[in-house]
Amino acid sequence: MTLEGIHFWPEVLTALSLKLNNPLFRQWINLTTAKYNGAQNCVIVLVPNSFIRDHMMGNMSDLKKIIDDIMCKNTDIEIVVDKNSTTTTSSDFLDAEIELEKRPLIKKNKSNFIPRFTFENFIVGSNNQFAHAACLSVAARPSKSYNPLFIFGSSGLGKTHLLQAIGNYVSEYLENTKVLYITGERFLNEYIKAIRTKTTDVFRKKFREDFDVLLIDDIQFIAGKGQSQEELFHAISSAHENNKQIVIASDKFPDEIEGLDARLKTRFASGLVCDVKVPEIETRLAIINNKATELNITISPESATKIAELFSSSVRELEGAITSIGAYSSFANTSITPDFIEEIYHSKQLSNKDKKQVDINYIIKKVCQHYHISELDLLGSNRNKDFVLPRHIAVYIAKKISNKSLSDLAKIFKRKNHSTIIHASEKIEELQKKDVNLKTEIDHLITDIKKI
Ligand code: ADP
Ligand code: MG
Repeated sequence: MTLEGIHFWPEVLTALSLKLNNPLFRQWINLTTAKYNGAQNCVIVLVPNSFIRDHMMGNMSDLKKIIDDIMCKNTDIEIVVDKNSTTTTSSDFLDAEIELEKRPLIKKNKSNFIPRFTFENFIVGSNNQFAHAACLSVAARPSKSYNPLFIFGSSGLGKTHLLQAIGNYVSEYLENTKVLYITGERFLNEYIKAIRTKTTDVFRKKFREDFDVLLIDDIQFIAGKGQSQEELFHAISSAHENNKQIVIASDKFPDEIEGLDARLKTRFASGLVCDVKVPEIETRLAIINNKATELNITISPESATKIAELFSSSVRELEGAITSIGAYSSFANTSITPDFIEEIYHSKQLSNKDKKQVDINYIIKKVCQHYHISELDLLGSNRNKDFVLPRHIAVYIAKKISNKSLSDLAKIFKRKNHSTIIHASEKIEELQKKDVNLKTEIDHLITDIKKI
């Protein structure tokens, strides 16, 4: 069998990324290559991991149409995970389990990182598997895979946990590898202090030379802070030139961080950017069981499901809820049952933490802006699909993140009754299952709305 590399692959990727207007997807597909098997008239797409393969499979019809158009014929397409690739971008992206198995046996001294924030304690689900695998890859081989690595996502979804897990791993298992963790806020404060005490040379040495792996958490704090952004840019550039690993966490995608230096955005985009999302119910259940074991609390499967249903938007709040439920049950000397959980939840002790009073008008405004339609059209009854989809999305988001009752929502959205709200919301849930890009788009909208 003879295989030829296909020279127009970049053209296919450009067309695909235009079609699937999703910045993350664009990053991932750039890690792919392709070959053409003339005898079988088959394009073989080589991808670095099963995660990217699944995403490409989900967009197979678009991919096929683009390839057929460019090749001017009907071709078969095969998507294969390329474990043997020698390019750094693909071969370094091994499965998490393999990395853990390959861990050296020597264990160094205890590290300064938060002990429970380890890879072992991190539950992997479809919401975070890409970020987790990238962090593990970077921890096992600093500066030999993705550099810089940029992780973003809303609060409470595990970014700090992942950064600290890299710190724990490197400081425990890699000889002669110095790892430094700093938050954006502390970087700023240390810089201000260095100026005040005229010790900027010490500051620069610390952040340009004295480490092999630099972990910068919550980088959004630096945005708009002129001089310290400049310092950070030089620190990152010099680290990069000296082959030192940089990992960054932020609440937003680099391009969306207001006031962030354009040079920093470009620098981040040159590495790998991946996100952590809200976990699916299965992942939430696994997190609940883990936390319950850690706290020595017995939670039945029914009760665990109840908690997972009630707390869906942040792992931090999910963990807080389990701790509170454990405390209440021991205080009241009763066992944890779904009814007991519901009772506590409705006593507002817990519910307010998870579902804040979100302004529905703000949701409507944001969705209208995103889809370029007027509020009158969103709240009207025109069945044109340009209005129906945004209308359903706004209802879905409002139902998901506000604590308004269904009949309140029906009134606000000028719908007939609560079943119209349920119907619209279920429709979007179904669509998201079939269309991962729509899901990403809605996740971004929710993140954006929750920022206020
Ligand atoms: P972020 O930095 O994104 O705001 P954190 O990393 O501080 O969030 O996570 C909040 C809490 O949730 C931490 O206690 C962390 O251990 C826990 N957590 C988040 N994601 C996971 C996960 N996938 N598995 C286990 N614990 C998690
Ligand atoms: Mg954090």
